[in-house]
Amino acid sequence: MPKITVIGAGTMGHGIAQVAAQSGFDVALFDIKDEFVQKGLSKVHENLTKGVEKGKVKPEERDAAMAHLHGTTDLKAACEGIVLAVEAAPEKIRIKHDIFEQLDRFSPADAVLATNTSSLSVTEIARATKRPSHVVGMHFFNPPHIMKLLELVRAADTSDETVAKAREFGAKFGKDCILVKDSPGFASSRLGLCIGLEAMRMFEQGVASAEDIDKAMKLGYGFPMGPLELTDLVGLDVRLDIATYLHRELGSEVFRPPEVLKKLVAEGKLGKKSKQGFYRY
Ligand code: NAD
Repeated sequence: MPKITVIGAGTMGHGIAQVAAQSGFDVALFDIKDEFVQKGLSKVHENLTKGVEKGKVKPEERDAAMAHLHGTTDLKAACEGIVLAVEAAPEKIRIKHDIFEQLDRFSPADAVLATNTSSLSVTEIARATKRPSHVVGMHFFNPPHIMKLLELVRAADTSDETVAKAREFGAKFGKDCILVKDSPGFASSRLGLCIGLEAMRMFEQGVASAEDIDKAMKLGYGFPMGPLELTDLVGLDVRLDIATYLHRELGSEVFRPPEVLKKLVAEGKLGKKSKQGFYRY
């Protein structure tokens, strides 16, 4: 089976690894510490077991997916023989540069190197490599094993062949792809964050409770999830990083990070992953 590596076993990385393993690829899930790798692997097992309980996944499919998946803290070994790397490390350009410089050194010459960044410049990330034509944005949605959308981002140097390969991977993963030019926040994060940040400002100003702000969008506009609930799911730290970046890059006040977001992040209230954000879990 062709091999894929996923870099970062956090909220997105473990889900992307699950999607790839369920699609029949051999998957190496990399993180910087073994405890993070193990946590990611057990989350995949948990997701698949929930799927079995709901009758959506057959027990043998769960077992096959788990057999295709292994964890590692050795990046060089993770990249051996891969056709695709998907990076899902924290939303910091310095970290992404460091990872892509290593992916470039360790991966086969024809491998596609993808980043799951929600907002950063894929063009800038690609320039950490000597093969920017092979670098593309593959932006999955949370949770990756459920959400259908895959936003492909064509950077300044991405080749047509790389875009075509990324589409093929997307199809094998069972995703619906959209293609977006590399610009801050692409299509989905830029639009999604506008609503999310405005909802936070309304919460801050006491316009309505978190529940009622979310209900307004769910019942009034048919959103499957309210903007504050979604922020808790995404991670407040992740949204703060994206807002800070978009505010700087697009120069629009719409993206200025609200005080309440900065305060909650400083208090370690990062959303569902830390059991508290705009809601308690
Ligand atoms: P996360 O904090 O949950 O996970 C990041 C993981 O990367 C952690 O396990 C961490 O240990 C690991 N890591 C840290 N430094 C690393 C390094 N040098 N090399 C490899 N791994 C390292 O973050 P996340 O929410 O999964 O976000 C990851 C990326 O996906 C970000 O670029 C984010 O913008 C993007 N993204 C997030 C969401 C979301 O809903 N959370 C959705 C789409 C895209």
